[in-house]
Amino acid sequence: MKITQMKLALLSAPLRVPFRTALREVSAVEDVVVELTDAEGRVGRGEAPPTAAVTGETLGSITAALRGHIGPALAGREFNGLDEIFAAIAGSIKGNSSAKAAAEIAVWDLYAQQCDLPLYKLLGGGKTSIVTDLTISVNEPDVMERDAAYAVAQGYDTLKIKVGESPELDIARLRAVRRAAPDAVVRLDANQAWTPRQAVRILEQTQSEGLDIELVEQPVKAHDIDGLQFVTVNSPVPVMADESVFSPADAFAIMQRHAADYINIKLMKCGGLSNALKIVSAAEVYGVECMLGCMLEAKVSVTAAVHLACAKRAITRIDLDGPALCSADPVTGGAVFNGRHISVTDAPGLGISAIEGLRYLEDAI
Ligand code: MG
Repeated sequence: MKITQMKLALLSAPLRVPFRTALREVSAVEDVVVELTDAEGRVGRGEAPPTAAVTGETLGSITAALRGHIGPALAGREFNGLDEIFAAIAGSIKGNSSAKAAAEIAVWDLYAQQCDLPLYKLLGGGKTSIVTDLTISVNEPDVMERDAAYAVAQGYDTLKIKVGESPELDIARLRAVRRAAPDAVVRLDANQAWTPRQAVRILEQTQSEGLDIELVEQPVKAHDIDGLQFVTVNSPVPVMADESVFSPADAFAIMQRHAADYINIKLMKCGGLSNALKIVSAAEVYGVECMLGCMLEAKVSVTAAVHLACAKRAITRIDLDGPALCSADPVTGGAVFNGRHISVTDAPGLGISAIEGLRYLEDAI
């Protein structure tokens, strides 16, 4: 497989409402798009959102990693199979998981097109649709109540509630969400904002008040695996590791110690589909269920995540609402978003035929 060139471009998509978590506030999606071309002129696409608060990457660092390291390791080279390509990407630069994920997703897209298969079939899957939750940003309780009511009116039956910014308000936030969505499955994401003891106290209160929380994502600091384990052991609410799990090795360590009940896999944290598949395989071995999540991003790389979710039974929960939070979709083809239902098509690869409004960055590599 020969990759003849790599092009980089910027993609912008406005959000319906500003996105707020305990870590940050964002009002528009601004991503780097990677286009890889093969000798027959096919184009494979991937995308990386700058999520500095989580992966440490910015638009500048993503483009610099792709232009200076990952691109030169791929463009103009003849590879003997996918494994060789993934090794070249992994070895081109340390870290930079989102930049690597974007390049790797473009490779998978290209390879699946060469095989004339949709990506989910290449991954061994047969399912063609999944159901996602919708994220409610952290705000004053009355704003979150209104947002939850809007989500329920749109047909979402599972809400992911961002909490943790001023923890003293979190119970009031959840009471407000429950008023608007009495029947929804409610999961929380504290984005590292609580101490272990604070987490246990808040979660005990949610359950004793009948707020019925399904699970909590990342209650404590990413590096605090002891704290994560403390919450997992002592809280009445199951715990999902998110920011604590980037690599397959992170996932192994958490599962070996039973430091969390669930793992949230994101392609931008683990560096692409090849590492995501390793985490899924490890989770299958340990009998741990996974969520497939995304960053605040448009539809290119999320389409790859949808294909992966359609292919793997260990992925039992879906949080792929990035595109649903955007007010416009610049991508033609790819996964089809219809409220909470997301489906794949049988077009080869990711099935993306065009992206509107791309601003190409100078020279191809
Ligand atoms: Mg999270």
